[in-house]
Amino acid sequence: MSILIKDATVLTVDGDFRILDPGAVYIENDRIVAVGPSDEIVNAHPDADRVIDGHGKVVAPGFISTHNHVGYTVFRGRSEDAGLACVPGMYMPMITILSRDERLAIGSLTYGELLKSGVTTTLQMEEDADVYAPFVEQLGCRSYMGIMTQDADLDAMTRGEFTFDAELRDAQMAQAIRFADDWHGKADGRIQVMMTPNMSICSSPELLQASRRAADERGLRLSTHLGWGPAEVEIVQRLHGVSPFEYMRDNGLLAADTVAAHCYVVSDDDTAILAQSGACVAHCPLMNAVRGHIAPIQKYQEAGITVSLGIDNMFADHFEVVRAAVMMARIKTQDTQAILAEDALRLATMGGARALGREGDLGSIEPGKIADLMVMNYRAFGLRPTLDPVQNLVYHGHSKDVETVVVNGEVVVDGGELVHADEVTLADGAENAAQEAWGRFVHKYGGIIAPY
Ligand SMILES: [Zn+2]
Repeated sequence: MSILIKDATVLTVDGDFRILDPGAVYIENDRIVAVGPSDEIVNAHPDADRVIDGHGKVVAPGFISTHNHVGYTVFRGRSEDAGLACVPGMYMPMITILSRDERLAIGSLTYGELLKSGVTTTLQMEEDADVYAPFVEQLGCRSYMGIMTQDADLDAMTRGEFTFDAELRDAQMAQAIRFADDWHGKADGRIQVMMTPNMSICSSPELLQASRRAADERGLRLSTHLGWGPAEVEIVQRLHGVSPFEYMRDNGLLAADTVAAHCYVVSDDDTAILAQSGACVAHCPLMNAVRGHIAPIQKYQEAGITVSLGIDNMFADHFEVVRAAVMMARIKTQDTQAILAEDALRLATMGGARALGREGDLGSIEPGKIADLMVMNYRAFGLRPTLDPVQNLVYHGHSKDVETVVVNGEVVVDGGELVHADEVTLADGAENAAQEAWGRFVHKYGGIIAPY
């Protein structure tokens, strides 16, 4: 299968940030074969199986979102105003409520939404994340996926007690390893399994060390939550006598193959630990802003730490996340030019590729790289006049403007619609599952926030 996208504005996001206008991209099988001035590429490749007319359109690399919990869309419209109380009051208790089928229905909608938003790669960590693998294979997106393991007694945690359960740990590790053995590298390499212990307060040293061992034995990457709240600092200090960053480092969770999500509650010592470890940051500016926090990403970049962008939960339009990265950086530094549009687009594409160790084959539109990209309709309201296609994408783009998405050289969003899933079925499935789950939640806990 070959695809030629011609007469478009091509944002390569390569090392020189080349913009070709009019430019063309020629794809064969899963790879980008040629990128250049439109006439030249069209003449060299006259017989493509499919030709996409790029007049009025912009081609950009697919977004890489390095932190997601797709099933947490069950909290959409429910936890945004709940503050950090949603973690013990909603997120943790919901683990005891949501069935695998309900989780699949809700998360499938999110996977579809993200793909339509130009997100070609997600790093998805969640309880029972294995449930999504067949749907990812069907939908056509690329996903790093991990069982979000934890071995703390969740009921005791809601009482402020922290006890770790060896039996639970063994079961969680067995599920995570079975998932890796069954699915890592499947779907033509689009599914990559990771080891993803949840966070410092509900993951014991034994769980973290077992995750590191399992990852090293199988060549898997790792991710975890880190630097997300003052409570984390207090609890880890109380339980283990060190800071959360020291705790994660000392138990094998901070290294060049690790993505640490959030990192907005950090000391200078923590930043130094991150930089020394080579670990990458998944910055979730929109979600963090909802909770009243901003991560110091300029400091991270100055320290040589790779920063990528993540959604976390509930949001479906990744353009909002890219915008939030700019806004939050400017508020944090009081610098009106902190993070320019070009920087934001790099964070959303090459930043993610670097965080996943894939800068050699993902994140930009260059010959030899895997064909993961989007085509946006710049005749859409909100995107004209196009005086600068990059600023328009970052400040004015939306999911609705994404017309075509290609992953692994295959068109998976066509004419703004998912090719391999029915959107109404996804939407209705998520609605029914969420209503059922919340019905049981309220019955069990007496309201939409469990007492803790
Ligand atoms: Zn998260």
